Amino acid sequence: MKNPESKSLFAKAQETLVGGVNSPVRAFKAVGETPLFIESAKGAVIRDADGNSYTDFVGSWGPMILGHAHPKVVSAVKLQASKGTSFGAPTELEIKLGLLVKNAFPSIEKVRFVSSGTEAAMTAIRLARAFTQRDKIVKFEGCYHGHSDAMLVKAGSGAATLGTPDSAGVPKSVSEDTLVLPYNDVPALQNFFKDFGPAIAGVIVEPVAANMGLVPPEPGFLEALREVTKKHGAVLIFDEVISGFRLDFGGAQTLYKISPDLTCLGKIVGGGLPVGAVGGRKEILDLLAPLGPVYQAGTLSGNPLAMAAGIKTLEELKARKPYKKLEAETEKLCNTVRAYAKWLKRPVQIHQLGSMFTIFFTDKPVRDYASAKTSNTETYARFFRSLLDAGIYFPPSQFETCFISAAHTPAILKASAKNINQSLEKLNA
Ligand SMILES: *Cc1c(COP(=O)(O)O)cnc(C)c1O
Repeated sequence: MKNPESKSLFAKAQETLVGGVNSPVRAFKAVGETPLFIESAKGAVIRDADGNSYTDFVGSWGPMILGHAHPKVVSAVKLQASKGTSFGAPTELEIKLGLLVKNAFPSIEKVRFVSSGTEAAMTAIRLARAFTQRDKIVKFEGCYHGHSDAMLVKAGSGAATLGTPDSAGVPKSVSEDTLVLPYNDVPALQNFFKDFGPAIAGVIVEPVAANMGLVPPEPGFLEALREVTKKHGAVLIFDEVISGFRLDFGGAQTLYKISPDLTCLGKIVGGGLPVGAVGGRKEILDLLAPLGPVYQAGTLSGNPLAMAAGIKTLEELKARKPYKKLEAETEKLCNTVRAYAKWLKRPVQIHQLGSMFTIFFTDKPVRDYASAKTSNTETYARFFRSLLDAGIYFPPSQFETCFISAAHTPAILKASAKNINQSLEKLNA
């Protein structure tokens, strides 16, 4: 047994923590394993409590684009910790991170920092409703926008894996105002707006879906979204909690040249500490208290440690511009695996965009949640376990996205490609 310590910690954890974890996908339920308990991580490598090392393709689910424990980020956090960890009062750090965000995203004129992506999406929805004085929100099947009541309808990844696409405990009166459409389906979108347009407060979307596995937008989908929302006076909300600072410094909206009204950020913007942000048009953001009637607050919002980590991470990204290189290296890895899978006659769909990728175990093209669900999750689970044995840490669910960081060197990726190919081959045995 390779990980007795993790197993023992998981047993202990279950006595105190619900399911042994503080976020459900970490329990490894979908892959029939016990979770690794992590001791430390550095660069592209993560180490468990038993001292095993793995090449990390999870990256804390997205934030770690510079790799783990980046020296500059670590020293920025240390320095700030020595000056105090929370004041509940404004600091100059918030202005700095705010400016980095505003300058990165042309659609963002004003920003409010919160402590998670969930809060960012929840606040964006409240703003859209206040601005339009309408109640209905449109989301897309398989897109995840955090766990606020209104967003726990057909929410992809974690919920999808556990087979609870609609959470218990969400009042019908709340979920009734959340309307769900298929991703990448322009006619469905247009027909829907023809019938219900005047009732829609806003549309929230992952411009590049990454919580049903990676599913990029088809040409015309984001354009159609911008067009119908504008025409019907609805607020367009891009949830760039994953894609912001990941696909490009200015997120998916820069890549696809679409300007949303509101943008949700999280993950990378906090450099591995808890940060979320909602930003966008001044006239909408200024509805927030203390300027306007939309209430939103947080004891640890704009927390100085988190701001320091976010600032250093964004400054480093801005200076290094790693995006082209990350994309080229991720593409190379995916091409190697795709070619090998073809040779093995293993039906897979490998989606890749920038430094993100997913290997779907299906012979059908994947363009939305329904087609993503044609993947064989049992095969994915076997693949996952085989990778783990080979020292590769993939997400413990078919419906998540793999991330590559700037610390994944060509040599690391070459070795990983070999391991991935061997694990594919073992599936045939
Ligand atoms: C992770 C994620 C969220 C939620 O962020 P938390 O910080 O986990 O609350 C929201 N939207 C998207 C697209 C995400 O990937």
